Amino acid sequence: MDEKIYVVGAGIVGICCAIALQKDGHKVVLIDKTGPAAGASFGNAGAVVNGSCVPTATPGIVSSALRMLKPGGPLSISPTHLGKLLPWLIRFTLQSSENNYQRNARHLVALTKDATNSWQKLLNNTASSDMFKAVGWLRLFETSQAFDANATSRQLMTDLGTPYQTLSFDEIYDLEPNLARIFQRGFYQPDCHFISNPQRMLQSLTERFSASGGEFKIAEVTDIKVKQQQAVIETTDEIIYPGKVIVTAGAWSTKLTKGLNYRAPLQAERGYHITLPVTQAISRPIVNAEQAFVLSPMETGLRVTSQVELAAVDAPANYAQIRSLLPKVKRMLPEAEMTEQSCWMGCRPSLPDSLPIISKSADKNIFFAFGHQHLGMTLGPRTGELIADLVAGREAENDLTPHRADRF
Ligand SMILES: Cc1cc2nc3c(=O)[nH]c(=O)nc-3n(C[C@H](O)[C@H](O)[C@H](O)COP(=O)(O)OP(=O)(O)OC[C@H]3O[C@@H](n4cnc5c(N)ncnc54)[C@H](O)[C@@H]3O)c2cc1C
Repeated sequence: MDEKIYVVGAGIVGICCAIALQKDGHKVVLIDKTGPAAGASFGNAGAVVNGSCVPTATPGIVSSALRMLKPGGPLSISPTHLGKLLPWLIRFTLQSSENNYQRNARHLVALTKDATNSWQKLLNNTASSDMFKAVGWLRLFETSQAFDANATSRQLMTDLGTPYQTLSFDEIYDLEPNLARIFQRGFYQPDCHFISNPQRMLQSLTERFSASGGEFKIAEVTDIKVKQQQAVIETTDEIIYPGKVIVTAGAWSTKLTKGLNYRAPLQAERGYHITLPVTQAISRPIVNAEQAFVLSPMETGLRVTSQVELAAVDAPANYAQIRSLLPKVKRMLPEAEMTEQSCWMGCRPSLPDSLPIISKSADKNIFFAFGHQHLGMTLGPRTGELIADLVAGREAENDLTPHRADRF
């Protein structure tokens, strides 16, 4: 048996788990079928939303989802996936009751309230710190009606102690003077951060892991199971008998662990981005709340992210909707150049209650860290710390009961 800990999946969650375990003195191998940042962690909006507390399943989500399902809208469901999706949709709908929503929000904020601290501890003034920018998170509304309709979320943030400021017209343009004067109201979370190049961030963290003695391996894992009380990892070309395994394969995690003693209703919430030429016009990620997209001023270009497409994890991408947003982006930033540099699709790994699984498995020596939905970039470092606590048998700083794998 190999005494090392194998972390399967080198997205933000896997890399942070690998580094946290290495810091505890373990010998760690990080495996990915493609390389670091090959999944959702490559192309997200880069926001570290400290104190994020609003679960996706909110009261009234069914009627707002039906409105969003219009052709060209931000939500779509693949008809061929509907049969498989139905049980997830039912569970998701049940989570939107007032009680479940309030409970999930409390559990979520318990994880996210220290997200920035965990990032700062991880970066610790190393070379990658230049990409971690204290610029806040800004959401903008063109109409007062839309701003008022968001009052429930703001009330939840107030109740749970997440700081934010509401902004008037003038305050919006004090922060972002180059935006077209189309927004009336905004709200701003000043203690949020922005990662200006998620791919470079993950690459530099992986290099740091390797430079400190960690092993990075490119291999496609086909199965993770237990045989005679021993954890086993099968890849396309070898069988490994690891000391411990951490499953961090994002939206693919349940596919790799079908033989284990748990069932998690994991669904890919597929999202898209389009990259436009680099611009200095905005200073932070900005959510256009009515049009449901985010503009992020990445060092690689202006990134437009949007969409929830409920489809199979490996189904082909369809870039029509993300491309259709360009006139709306132009309306916000009339001076920006609209030449498409690249398009991308990634899978948010989502569970019906919006809470990631951060858990020891019922099977010996196997641990899970997946299901971070819209908040994986926010929660990667925090998750790494918690997994290191679980592996060490230390009392974790967070109560991990709501994140157990056997809660479903
Ligand atoms: C459009 C969009 C915008 C987003 N914006 C934000 C944001 O602003 N802030 C935020 O906090 N979150 C955001 N998110 C969510 C965030 O990106 C995800 O929650 C996060 O990246 C998930 O990280 P992960 O490490 O769990 O999974 P991934 O990054 O998907 O990594 C999983 C890894 O597992 C590997 N893998 C899969 N199968 C195998 C196999 N068989 N063998 C070996 N390796 C395998 C993959 O290659 C991949 O590298 C956004 C997501 C999207 C799609």
